[in-house]
Amino acid sequence: MKNSYLQRRAYKNLTRRSFLASSLRAALFGAYAINSTAIAQSTPWRNWSGGLSCQPQGRYDISSEDQLVELLKRTTGPIRPVGSGHSFSPLVPTDGHLVVTDQLNGILEYDNESMEATFGAGSRLGDLGAPLNEIGQGMLNLPDIDRQTVAGATATGTHGTGLNFNSLSGYITALRLITPNGDIKDLDASDGDLFDAARVNVGALGVVTQIRMQNRAAYKLKKREWTAPTEDILANFDELAANHRHFEIFPLVYSDFSLVLQIDESEEPIGQTIIPAEEVTLADLRPLGVDAVPAEKLAMNNALAINAEVSEAVDLSYKLLSNIRSNPFNEMEYSVPAEVGADCVREILKTIYDEAIDVAFPLEYRYVKPESPWLSMAYGDEPHATISIHRTAGEDYRPYFDIIEPIFWKYGGRPHWGKIHSLGHTELSQLYPRYEDFIAIRESLDPNGRMLNDHLKKLFNA
Ligand SMILES: Cc1cc2nc3c(=O)[nH]c(=O)nc-3n(C[C@H](O)[C@H](O)[C@H](O)COP(=O)(O)OP(=O)(O)OC[C@H]3O[C@@H](n4cnc5c(N)ncnc54)[C@H](O)[C@@H]3O)c2cc1C
Repeated sequence: MKNSYLQRRAYKNLTRRSFLASSLRAALFGAYAINSTAIAQSTPWRNWSGGLSCQPQGRYDISSEDQLVELLKRTTGPIRPVGSGHSFSPLVPTDGHLVVTDQLNGILEYDNESMEATFGAGSRLGDLGAPLNEIGQGMLNLPDIDRQTVAGATATGTHGTGLNFNSLSGYITALRLITPNGDIKDLDASDGDLFDAARVNVGALGVVTQIRMQNRAAYKLKKREWTAPTEDILANFDELAANHRHFEIFPLVYSDFSLVLQIDESEEPIGQTIIPAEEVTLADLRPLGVDAVPAEKLAMNNALAINAEVSEAVDLSYKLLSNIRSNPFNEMEYSVPAEVGADCVREILKTIYDEAIDVAFPLEYRYVKPESPWLSMAYGDEPHATISIHRTAGEDYRPYFDIIEPIFWKYGGRPHWGKIHSLGHTELSQLYPRYEDFIAIRESLDPNGRMLNDHLKKLFNA
C-alpha cells in the first residue's frame, strides 16, 4: 500500500474517537441539504442529491386546497406533486406542472385521547417534533433524517427501524386526497382498499393535502452507539431487535465490524456523552482505500473499529430518532423477508470485498413491522429487513449498484419507491401482491394519466 501524505493524514485523523464520526457521521451522511426555498424559487428543479433535475412548464406553490382544486381544473397536461425533493428515484421530474405543498403545513388538529394529530401535507417531519411535544404528543417513529414532508415521506413508504414499528404510512389514520379532476376525498380505514392504496401512493393518485397520524404521549429516548463484530450482531439480530425499541446496524465495508445503534425509552435526565465528531470528511477517508487492496483495507478498518468508543444520549424522542446528513449521496434500498436479511447482508459485504468495489460508505440494516398499505416494503404478514447501499453524489453509482441489485432480487427484495432501482411493471407486480389492484385504482382516479411521468409509466405499464 502506498503511504501517501493524504493517507497518513487520514489515518492519523482516524483516531478511536473519530472512527464513528468518520465512518458514519461524516462518511455516511451529514446534514440537511439543499434547502426548500431553493426548490420553491428556482427552476430547474433538482433533488437533494443533485442527481435528478427537470424544467417544469409551471411551478405552483399552493396556499390552500381551493387553489389546488382550481389549478387541477384549469390546467391540462402532466402534473406532479413534490415534497422536499429527498427521493433518489425519478418520481418527481416532469416537463409539465409541479405542485409544491410547502405552505400547507403545521398541526391542523389534534386529539389527546386518541393521541392523533392532523398535519398539513407539506409539513417537514422535523418541524413537527417541538409543536407536538408542546401538546403532549410524540411521533411513534422517524426515518434516518427528518427533512422530508409528511406527504412526500408517506408517498414512498418511508420508514425508520424497529421490529415493532411500522413505516410512517402505517401510522396514517386518515388523509385528504384531491384527485386529478379536483374531487376531494377524505379517506380512513372505513374506505378499505382505497385507503390501503393511498397510504403509499408515490404521488400517482392525486395530491394529498392533510394527513392524520397515530402518535403517542410525548416521551424520551436513550440512544447508544458502539461498534461490534458484524457476525456477532447478525447472528443475534432477531433477539436484539425484539429486546430494544429501535435497533439497527451500519455494517462497515472492508471490515468485520458494524456501527450498532440501539434506542430505548428512558426516564433518565436529558444529556449526552456523544464524543464530538472531529473534522474528518469523506475526502479524508477515501484515500485510505484508494491504493489499498481489500485485505489491507480490512486490516486498517478493523484496527480502527475495534477501539471505537461507546457514545450515549438521552433526549426527547424527536431529537434522537433522526440524524443530520450533510454529504449528499445516492442510495439503493430493498426490503427482504427478515429471515433472510442477514444472509443478504453477508453476500453484499462479500461481493464488495471479492470484487474490490471502491466504496467507503457503510450499508444500513433495519427491521420494519408487517403492515397493510399495499405498496409498503413491509406489506404482508412477516417483518422485513431493509438494506441500503450508498454512493457519494457526483460519483457514478451505476457500476456499484448494478453489481449489488441482483443480490437483492435473489432474496426476494422489494425496492424502496424513493430510492434507486431498475425494476419495471413485470417484476414489481410479482413482488407486491396488490400491485395490479393499485394500478386499477390509479386508472380509475386518473384515467388520463395526468399524474404520470416517464418513470411512473414504466412502473405501472401505462
Ligand atoms: C439523506 C436521506 C435520508 C433518508 N432516510 C430515509 C430513511 O431513513 N427511511 C426511508 O424509508 N427513506 C429515507 N429516505 C428517502 C426519503 O424519505 C423518501 O424518498 C421520501 O419520499 C422523500 O420525501 P420528500 O418530502 O422529499 O418527497 P419527494 O422526494 O419530493 O417526493 C416523493 C414522492 O412523494 C410525492 N408527493 C410529495 N408531496 C405529495 C403530496 N402532497 N401529495 C401526493 N404525493 C406527494 C411525490 O410526487 C413523489 O412521488 C432518505 C432520503 C435522504 C435524501
